Amino acid sequence: MIDFEHVSKEYKKGGRLALEDINFHVDEGEFVFLLGHSGAGKSTLLKLILRETLPTSGKVTVLGKDVAKLRRHKIPYLRRQMGIIFQDFRLIPSMTVYENVAFAMHVLNVPRKEIRPRVEYILELVHLEDKAKCYPDTLSGGEQQRVAVARALVHNPKLVIADEPTGNIDPELSLEMMQLLERVSKMGITVLVVTHEHELVHRFHQRVVTLSHGRIVSDVPADPVAAAE
Ligand code: ADP
Ligand code: ADP
Repeated sequence: MIDFEHVSKEYKKGGRLALEDINFHVDEGEFVFLLGHSGAGKSTLLKLILRETLPTSGKVTVLGKDVAKLRRHKIPYLRRQMGIIFQDFRLIPSMTVYENVAFAMHVLNVPRKEIRPRVEYILELVHLEDKAKCYPDTLSGGEQQRVAVARALVHNPKLVIADEPTGNIDPELSLEMMQLLERVSKMGITVLVVTHEHELVHRFHQRVVTLSHGRIVSDVPADPVAAAE
C-alpha cells in the first residue's frame, strides 16, 4: 500500500534534511499511527505520499506506483484512491451534511444517480442519516467529525489518511475519532493517522511509527491481543 525505501528529503540544497533514510512499509488493511513532535517530518512524509513533493533520494511507492515516475495527469487518479481527514475537518459551512459528502463525489465526476444511494449509505454507516439536511454549524463536535469521516469514505478509497484529526477537539471526542478510524480499518481500508498526541496513541494497540528529527526512531507493531480486549 505504502512503501518507503531509503527516502530522504531536503527542501533546500545543502540544507537540513526534513527526512533522512526513511524505510517503512504499510500493508493493505493495516492501521498505522505516525507519531512525532512538531518539525519531526510528519507533514513532509504526508506530502510525499500525496505526491505533493518528490523525494530528494530513495523511492516512495504508493498504491503500487513509484510516485517519482508518475506522469502528471495520473496524479489526480492516485489521490482519488485516498480519503483525507484534515485537522479542522474543512467542512463547507454553506452546504448541508448531505451536500458536503456528495460534493466529494461531484468533484470526481461520479454520475449523479450513483451519488445519492452512496451518500445515503455512508451517512447511515456513521449514524448521521437524521442530520443530512443540517448545516455544519448546527452539529455537535462529534457529528462534525463523523461528517469529515463520511466525506473521506464516500468515494470508496483504498487508503484513508487522517492528518492531526484530533488537533482541535476535546479528549473524549479524540477517543471517538480514533474508534471511528479503527472501524474504518476493520472495513479493510488502510488507515494512516498522523499525530503528535503521544498519550492518545498509546491508548490504542495499533502499530506506531515514531518520527524524530526526520528519522524513524521506532516502529512498534500492533498488539492484536490487547486490541481485542
Ligand atoms: P504542521 O506541523 O502543523 O503540519 P507545517 O507543516 O506547516 O505545520 O510546518 C511545520 C514546520 O515546518 C514549521 O516549523 C514551519 O515553520 C516549517 N515550514 C513549513 N513550511 C516551510 C517553508 N516553506 N519553509 C521553511 N519552513 C517551513
Ligand atoms: P512536522 O509535520 O512533523 O511538524 P515537517 O515535515 O513540517 O514536520 O517539517 C520537517 C522539517 O522540514 C522541519 O525542519 C521544517 O522546518 C522543514 N520544512 C518543512 N516544510 C518545508 C519547506 N516547504 N521548506 C523548507 N523547509 C521545510
